[in-house]
Amino acid sequence: MARVRTRLLALCLGSLLALPLLAQHVPPARLPSTPPPHPTSAEQKRGAPAPPTHDPQPELPPLAAFAHVHSGHDAWLAARSRKQPAPAPGPRPAGAGRYVAAVLVCADCDLDVPALLGLARADVLLLSVPGPFLSAETTAAIERQVLAERLSLVLVLTHARCTTLEPPAPAPKDPIAARVRFARAEAERRRLPLGRCVGAMQRELLLAASDTLAVRAAEDKLRVVPGEIDDRSGAITWLQKPIDELPMPPVK
Ligand SMILES: [Zn+2]
Repeated sequence: MARVRTRLLALCLGSLLALPLLAQHVPPARLPSTPPPHPTSAEQKRGAPAPPTHDPQPELPPLAAFAHVHSGHDAWLAARSRKQPAPAPGPRPAGAGRYVAAVLVCADCDLDVPALLGLARADVLLLSVPGPFLSAETTAAIERQVLAERLSLVLVLTHARCTTLEPPAPAPKDPIAARVRFARAEAERRRLPLGRCVGAMQRELLLAASDTLAVRAAEDKLRVVPGEIDDRSGAITWLQKPIDELPMPPVK
């Protein structure tokens, strides 16, 4: 019942917040139902590479991706506490596609987020936007990587000293102000700190806006994990308590 309620709430939020954005939302590209046929040996030109095989693509389970990021962040924190330079990223986890994780992070967070997570820059689809507030474009970018590259982990990172989330006074009538006002009211209603609430809301919006992502999440092939960065220490507090019993990974 709680899950149904959550889904309904997320859908309501989605329509309230993202209607102008979703109006432009293009349905995600579908995977072709049948792969193109391989060329026969006669069609295969001399010296051409061997035809592709039907070996299943490796996959990086979302919990393994999260464990990788979690331990990378721990190593980063340990080095920082010893006043040492950030450690070099560890080896890529087996099964990762183009990216180990997508990270939706507020644009005015001034930290090196891939380094903070112990990841090479090339291993992160870094979506740096104000808030971070989800848009149709960021949703589409995540969907593309999920479909084409088996992306299994999305992090939504707010930060404690966020100027974007401060109440605008006098409030400009721009889209950011509208999102901030709604988020502040929602944080009050849910009795959550603002940053935590924004992270949770973007998670709900992402899954409500995309059937593709919702199905992957239901199959546990995708996890969307909110967290909040302490700007001074760089430490990330993962949102451990699931909002309305949403599935969440265990956190050490
Ligand atoms: Zn911010």
